[in-house]
Amino acid sequence: MTAFSIARLPRIEFGAGTLQKLPDIIASYGARVLLVTGARSFINTPHWQFLIDQLEHRSVTWRHCTVAEEPSPALIDELVKAHAGDDFTAVAGIGGGSALDAAKAVAGLLRVQRSVMDYLEGVGPELPYQGPAVPFIAVPTTAGTGSEATKNAVLSVQGENGFKKSFRHDKLVAEYAIVDPDLLASCPASVIAANGMDALTQLLESYVSTKSNAFTDALAISGLQSARDALIPLYRQHGDLARHREKMAYAALLSGITLAQVGLGSVHGLASPLGAFYPIPHGAVCGTLVAAATRVNIHSLLAREPNNQALAKYLHVAEILCEKRFIDPGAAFNALADLLTQWTEELALPRLSHYGLQETGLDKVIANCRGSSMKTNPIVLNDEEIRQILIERF
Ligand SMILES: [Zn+2]
Repeated sequence: MTAFSIARLPRIEFGAGTLQKLPDIIASYGARVLLVTGARSFINTPHWQFLIDQLEHRSVTWRHCTVAEEPSPALIDELVKAHAGDDFTAVAGIGGGSALDAAKAVAGLLRVQRSVMDYLEGVGPELPYQGPAVPFIAVPTTAGTGSEATKNAVLSVQGENGFKKSFRHDKLVAEYAIVDPDLLASCPASVIAANGMDALTQLLESYVSTKSNAFTDALAISGLQSARDALIPLYRQHGDLARHREKMAYAALLSGITLAQVGLGSVHGLASPLGAFYPIPHGAVCGTLVAAATRVNIHSLLAREPNNQALAKYLHVAEILCEKRFIDPGAAFNALADLLTQWTEELALPRLSHYGLQETGLDKVIANCRGSSMKTNPIVLNDEEIRQILIERF
């Protein structure tokens, strides 16, 4: 077995009802907490009042801020400035990827008092982050980004000169991830679809990543099995919903662990410029591209690197997701790409042109897609191959 190292992970509490543990966990760090939530989904549920009552019961005082959309560096700096004089003993992020990433970045900067632009990858001076970070507790209310297990906060400026980059450091990893599948109950179907495909993509891309290892492979396979069983039925609201929510929350958590350890691939490489230049939510980009990107990766591997071990891994994924054995690898590869396409259609993921991408914009997207995620794609794709992925989902 090849040697590997595993970076820091949060302590994890997983299971229906684990939100109940949040007040004690917050109180274990001290008596002052900053609560960062999404705009609506959590604070409109009875869970919010429960949390507030329980904090008061423990004499923990709190302040609250909301994050309505994918966070920008300006928003992070604003939040840090607004709360800088306050001696928080913990920051709790409760929400989807946007709220969690914002909370993670704010927790990292409250005691440091510098602009997040000083640390963002690929823009600005990229100063080494040295902390200290305020202890961060992550409570996801969607099953998607896996931010509860990662060491980066993705921040974006959207538009013509936009970017989507990470503030990344081991010190930013949550102290605790509290993953309560019951919180997914308030998730609309379109969010389940996009975030679920993001989790699936993260599992698949980390499984075939050039940095993958035996430890992350085991987690990726387990996550893929869960997503296979639960994503479509949860979206359609068929069957045992509590069980489906558990499986998707589990798949998303594992996807965060694997991506943080071994990186991603071409879908996430493209998600960066597409999300920067166009108003496309992260999950929607991943969901819409994963079938085409898988097809192109396999095709390029067969043509140029037929002995690359990623091909055996794609075959294994085909057998897991399609739940059958294949004698002919070619049939397996086709079945995998077809199944992913079928899910993309069943989940009604919009095409890229829906968000304003035009043919004239393709070159700029291709020129800006070779950031960190693309570097761990199992094969180095040329510009023409990347264009094929985009054209298929144009
Ligand atoms: Zn993702």
